[in-house]
Amino acid sequence: LKPLTVAIVGRPNVGKSTFFNRLVGRRLALVDDRPGVTRDRREGEAKLGDLALTIIDTAGLEEADADSLEGRMRAQTERAVADADVSVFLIDARAGVTPADRHFADLLRRSGKPVVLVANKCEGAAGEGGFYDAYSLGFGEPVPFSAEHGLGLADLVLALEEHA
Ligand code: GDP
Ligand code: MG
Repeated sequence: LKPLTVAIVGRPNVGKSTFFNRLVGRRLALVDDRPGVTRDRREGEAKLGDLALTIIDTAGLEEADADSLEGRMRAQTERAVADADVSVFLIDARAGVTPADRHFADLLRRSGKPVVLVANKCEGAAGEGGFYDAYSLGFGEPVPFSAEHGLGLADLVLALEEHA
């Protein structure tokens, strides 16, 4: 298996940073908080079975003002996706698929790079509807996941290994 660089992509609040922390945990190699340019971006290393990952979290949009939010999200996501071998596209299964999710889906389709769709917040029954909705995004079968509870890692590894 070749090492993979993975970009975590999705609208705010779907659980990207929780997902990042779940995978990277204590192996966080770099927190890049240089002022300015890359302060929104975190990278870390993870080892899942035989699979070695460099993971890019796209984060920190909370400080953007309303006018520039969409532009900043787009630019930051496009940069991370361009640097990655695979994008992990997170949705919030409890919230269902939203217009903002569809916006990110279009951006990812245009990237031409492989996408692993992850339905996060799938613990319990509240995520079931959103999990099935996620098929409509056009990236095939979603991986049911709970970043908060650490559920779904085995399926995630299988999905990522197809691209390694
Ligand atoms: P981000 O904006 O995409 O980085 O999302 P965060 O990682 O900051 O998470 C947003 C919120 O969703 C936080 O309150 C998390 O605790 C919560 N969250 C993240 N993952 C899960 C999950 O698997 N299940 C549930 N129920 N909540 C989660
Ligand atoms: Mg975040």
